[in-house]
Amino acid sequence: MKRVNSASPEETHEIGLRIGRSIPPQSIIALQGDLGAGKTTLIKGIAQGFAGVSPREVSSPTFTYLNIYTKTHPIYHFDLYRLRSGDDFLALGFDEYFEQEGLCLIEWPEIILDILPEKTLQIDMNYTSEMGRELILSENNVAISKWDS
Ligand code: ADP
Ligand code: MG
Repeated sequence: MKRVNSASPEETHEIGLRIGRSIPPQSIIALQGDLGAGKTTLIKGIAQGFAGVSPREVSSPTFTYLNIYTKTHPIYHFDLYRLRSGDDFLALGFDEYFEQEGLCLIEWPEIILDILPEKTLQIDMNYTSEMGRELILSENNVAISKWDS
């Protein structure tokens, strides 16, 4: 487990850039944290670092569940806040993206935790103050051991 503190949205973006640059294709990142914790801010950095996606193109797909950004490698950006169950996730065929050559980024993964592949990198984001956030990254992932903050 690795803990990282951010003192601003810009710093969170910067942390995302570093994660995106070091994560291999076909990875899955599950991001937990309350509304406003900074999940989308971090994802903008990851998408830019991973595939050069412009932050302007990235937004939470709250009503459509999935945005796909296609630059070098595709990025599958999920927001499962409004999805009712893990069965719905499977019924929509979303688990097929786990096998694709690309990066899966999942906001609100709580209802699918038991179907996420073991290699999934978990990032929990917590408020520490108005501008402060603590990121807790799970350790069972090569990208994090390679990633030297
Ligand atoms: P989420 O996707 O978790 O709902 P967003 O990234 O959409 O969160 O929004 C985070 C909000 O919190 C933004 O308005 C951002 O400006 C603000 N914020 C303040 N401090 C930070 C920080 N250190 N990291 C990320 N966001 C921050
Ligand atoms: Mg969001």
